[in-house]
Amino acid sequence: MTNGKLLTGLPIAVDFWKLPQSGGLYKTYLYFLTHLHTDHTKGLTSTWTETVYTSSLNRELAITMLKVNPELIKPLEIGVSYKMTLPSEYGKSDDNQSQFISVTPIDANHIKGSVMFLFEGSFGRILYTGDFRWCEAMMIDPVLQNLSESKNLNILYIDNTFEHIGNEFPTRKQCTKEVLKIMKKHPYHRIIFGCQTIGKEDVLLQAFLERKEKVYVPETILICYRLLGLPCEEIFTTNQADSLLWFEKLNQISQFDLRKKNSEMPTIAIKLTASGLLYTSSKFKDDELIFTVPYSNHSSASELAKCLDFLQPSSVERIVKTNPHKAGSSSVIDSYLATIKAAELTDDITSDSMELSSFESPVLKSQVSDYFSSAVSKFESPLPHDTALSEDMDDEIPIELKSPVIPVAAQKSPSSTTISEELEDVITKANSIIVSIFSDLDQFKEENNNDNIYSDAFIEKLMSLHKIYQPLTGVSMCNEYK
Ligand SMILES: [Zn+2]
Repeated sequence: MTNGKLLTGLPIAVDFWKLPQSGGLYKTYLYFLTHLHTDHTKGLTSTWTETVYTSSLNRELAITMLKVNPELIKPLEIGVSYKMTLPSEYGKSDDNQSQFISVTPIDANHIKGSVMFLFEGSFGRILYTGDFRWCEAMMIDPVLQNLSESKNLNILYIDNTFEHIGNEFPTRKQCTKEVLKIMKKHPYHRIIFGCQTIGKEDVLLQAFLERKEKVYVPETILICYRLLGLPCEEIFTTNQADSLLWFEKLNQISQFDLRKKNSEMPTIAIKLTASGLLYTSSKFKDDELIFTVPYSNHSSASELAKCLDFLQPSSVERIVKTNPHKAGSSSVIDSYLATIKAAELTDDITSDSMELSSFESPVLKSQVSDYFSSAVSKFESPLPHDTALSEDMDDEIPIELKSPVIPVAAQKSPSSTTISEELEDVITKANSIIVSIFSDLDQFKEENNNDNIYSDAFIEKLMSLHKIYQPLTGVSMCNEYK
């Protein structure tokens, strides 16, 4: 399974390791790597030929784990904005100059080294989370905070792994406590920890402290852990015979294997994953030998909702394609999308009303146009949608990417449009009247009674609406309705 994307209409590939299709719109892409889990690196190997941008730690891991040519991987510092040139085929600006984008990596709170990317350019602002776990600390991250305040995030590409799981997940700290509790109940057992390559090492460290015994990890894992800066010689061993605490790949753990191990000595397994919550199959159920602790490096549904609420993106794209609960059930992302669709509809109605009239109040006019351009701003790609590139492209001849990276000082993005409270108030009132008018019209239609349009109550609503818009439009009311 691969969880990477080519951003729609743009020559920007994130965790997506294919070269542009021959005869396609672009001859080159800019490539970005969020983290080193295998579902994000499929195709990134020792034979890779293009420049890759990622965090410093990911760079080290990619060189060690995937044997990628070190010269191709350019490290980016978290929180710093970098200016890059888009491939020349991307729509040129008016003065026929190449277009630049700004790229800012942000800590994704997934595994060590993992990053999100904020892309800014003539296309607007796009945040690509990669795998991430939303947390309170993100609300004070300067880049994310700025996105939240400016309310002009055009597209959020989001890790939707657990969008359909209604429950809150325990924090990783709570999960570690749970692991220690299970260990205490099995003081003489051999314990197998079901882990991914990297991402659960904090639990292994706590297990080491609990038992005061080194944890067995395979040599390949130890090499990665060294890169993470862990005091490996103290905590880990690569000799199974030295330890009763063993690292094992999650997908290697099975009841069959555990029964076999129990014939040698009492053994239990602790699977560190929340993935089991996605499945109902008995294959994922715990028994007396297997315990699952939902230690998650992904956001729970409620954390996704908090993220959406904080960032308020104009549109959302899911990164994870396969999701077993998707069919027939609504998720927090669906709810968010429904909300913004409803808001857009209201904006459109109000906006149309504005267009029909000529503005005569210069002060209010400028406030209104600013407000509406901000509120309904959309992703303005210079490319029409039908030129959007497909992810499923075949490889073609590699072409060297020559994109200078110019680090610029970490900077706040453009400040948000100021919306006067007074105007906001007016618009809120107008919107509520419009909603009420629409509801009346529905009712009249249902009753099949056109006369109601002339009822006092309905005319009063129209007059109230007119009073709100009159200072903006300058259109006077007919005397008979004054
Ligand atoms: Zn991951």
